[in-house]
Amino acid sequence: MPELPEVEVVRAGLAQSVVGRQISWVSARHPRATRRFPGGPAQFEAALVGRTVQAAHRRGKYLWLPLSDGQVLLGHLGMSGQLLVEAPSTPEGPHLRVIIGFNDAGPDLRFVDQRTFGGLWVEAGGEGPDHLPFSLAHIARDPLDPRFDEKVFISRLRRRRTEIKRALLDQTLISGVGNIYADEALWRVRLHGGRPTSRLPVAKASELVTAIREVMLEALGQGGTSFDSLYVDVNGQSGYFSQSLNAYGRVDQPCLRCGTPMRREAFMNRSSFSCPVCQPRPRRRAATGLR
Ligand SMILES: [Zn+2]
Repeated sequence: MPELPEVEVVRAGLAQSVVGRQISWVSARHPRATRRFPGGPAQFEAALVGRTVQAAHRRGKYLWLPLSDGQVLLGHLGMSGQLLVEAPSTPEGPHLRVIIGFNDAGPDLRFVDQRTFGGLWVEAGGEGPDHLPFSLAHIARDPLDPRFDEKVFISRLRRRRTEIKRALLDQTLISGVGNIYADEALWRVRLHGGRPTSRLPVAKASELVTAIREVMLEALGQGGTSFDSLYVDVNGQSGYFSQSLNAYGRVDQPCLRCGTPMRREAFMNRSSFSCPVCQPRPRRRAATGLR
């Protein structure tokens, strides 16, 4: 699933390729792709035609494009969504869900989504990165946002009665972090994701935030992580950060720090990858009563 670096690569691509262009026609091919727009596909099309794209913004894993009429076009890539900028003559693939055409004979914007968990919709608000569309009001700032407040994040994190990895994936606490970058950051700071947030020292939490930022910036520099080959940028190019992963997907391969075979554990219908030596499981003191 695309996380912050991948969505940021797409945002930057949209900023270059569709901002300033006027939409002349829209074809919504699959009702699931526009299910978050209450009016249905025909009204979704009508809401966009004639509008000019003003900018391309992102919060966590969400994208939005302010339009010339004060509304915004929102997008979430879900598991497998792709926003592609393609010449009108490019053949349509089987998973094409929405085509947006412009009045300048330039490339189309195409939403392709194999598993249809992603979607596009239109709503009011969202003039800038600090003025969110209504449906994103609950999404916390992400760690690359210049106004992300590390102190506030750490104090909220330590008040939660949960485990660290679950907290990192909670988009109302910190946005943009998913399974891959959570595992990478936890490996870097030698923390097991099952550690209770309430007992995490402030200094360690700060190290974790730094590690999240570092791994995301490194991933951005390599165009993101195309782990399952579904993630691509607006030009259809894969990212190369999957070759630099230290934890995610490396079950039974030697830890790059200590050589111990990496483990895989079940986590929320997915998997977590960690080093049994560098990232020991927390002792369950509270559960067993042992000290
Ligand atoms: Zn290790």
